[in-house]
Amino acid sequence: MLNAEIATRRADVVSRGVGVTTQVYADRAENAEIWDVEGRRYIDFAAGIAVVNTGHRHPKVIQAVKDQLDRFTHTCHQVVPYENYVRLAERLNDLVPGDFKKKTIFVTTGAEAVENAVKIARAATNRSAVIAFTGGFHGRTFMGMALTGKVVPYKTGFGAMMADVFHAPSPVEMHGTSIEDSLSILDKLFKADVDPNRVAAFIVEPVQGEGGFYEVPRAFMQKLRELADKYGILLIADEVQTGFSRTGKNFAMEHFDVAADITTMAKGLGGGFPIAAVTGRAEVMDAPAPGGLGGTYGGNPVSVAAGNAVLDVIHDEDLNGRAVLLGKRLKQRLQSLRDVVPQIVDVRGPGFMNAVEFNVPNSTTPNPEFANTVRQKALDKGLILLTCGVYGNVIRFLAPITIQDSVFEEALDILEKAIRETAREA
Ligand code: PMP
Repeated sequence: MLNAEIATRRADVVSRGVGVTTQVYADRAENAEIWDVEGRRYIDFAAGIAVVNTGHRHPKVIQAVKDQLDRFTHTCHQVVPYENYVRLAERLNDLVPGDFKKKTIFVTTGAEAVENAVKIARAATNRSAVIAFTGGFHGRTFMGMALTGKVVPYKTGFGAMMADVFHAPSPVEMHGTSIEDSLSILDKLFKADVDPNRVAAFIVEPVQGEGGFYEVPRAFMQKLRELADKYGILLIADEVQTGFSRTGKNFAMEHFDVAADITTMAKGLGGGFPIAAVTGRAEVMDAPAPGGLGGTYGGNPVSVAAGNAVLDVIHDEDLNGRAVLLGKRLKQRLQSLRDVVPQIVDVRGPGFMNAVEFNVPNSTTPNPEFANTVRQKALDKGLILLTCGVYGNVIRFLAPITIQDSVFEEALDILEKAIRETAREA
């Protein structure tokens, strides 16, 4: 089978609304490598968008899944529950930051976790408004889409957004918004649009994912916590992309010295199997009435088995430590190119949640063409990269944290070549 043939068939039968960034059709994958249907090997610096932090088909994850497949695959936790769901909940309650009693629910996707976090916050506060941030991404469902702080392509053509959702600007200094600017606009929002005593929750990604890998400044996160406490607003940390060792911690909120009341998780939790979770203060999580939360597939036992194995791997292989080490090496390599590549304006990111941002040289004009050319050249040389950012001028790196040293070095060489070539031709 040829990639091009499948691409033609795909275009004929699959909605164009499901965009794809490569026409590389996967055949098999192992740790940080993917082989396509034509037998070509790629190094995977996307990890299925921050999902296989523990690598493709980690042996411990696969073994746990196989064991579960041999016992049962679905009973619906709401009908005939099972122990591994409870165990994973116990473990997340311990791991998620926050020095208070917690409870957890399992759902299937990140967007669904976000939906449920908002439902829970509304039920717990008896308020309906939610404040999100520009550039944030929270999913493609109706509430997820409304909370997402980017119109194109996420909201285009989809009509009226959910009511009572407001956006405050994210403090991204390099794009001209300081912490003070953000806070002052938030204050104006409270004066002009929504009484803070009507706000159920703030929802924030500790490091914006799709929005460009901008880390929330510590002082800003702490101020949000303060405002939340002052007005009885709940703080929701959307850790769907940042969780499970990506930032060198189990959860990115550990970098801020303040805890969220509710945390959403997905992606890295399942190591390649669909599972998402909401963990939060016990009394908040218990606000909805029995039957108000859940879903047929939420906490599917096979995915739960994978989730328990993922937590073992993170601990046993010290993936937090490894993320810090790999991130340092990647950032060093990118920094070393700054002298010869004037398009590089920033290299950043905690742990192994790293990004490089490109502008037109000596300007503040974002350079999405440069980012896209680097991505394409890297792909041609066998390295899968993803772009992101409100302006599309950022390349983000999301390789499996289990990547072998030799494969990692090979990938860095390809990346360097792709960037140097793009700069030479610019
Ligand atoms: N929140 C964040 C921070 C995300 O990065 C994503 C996915 N990119 C989502 C929510 C939505 O997750 P899903 O695609 O699993 O619905």
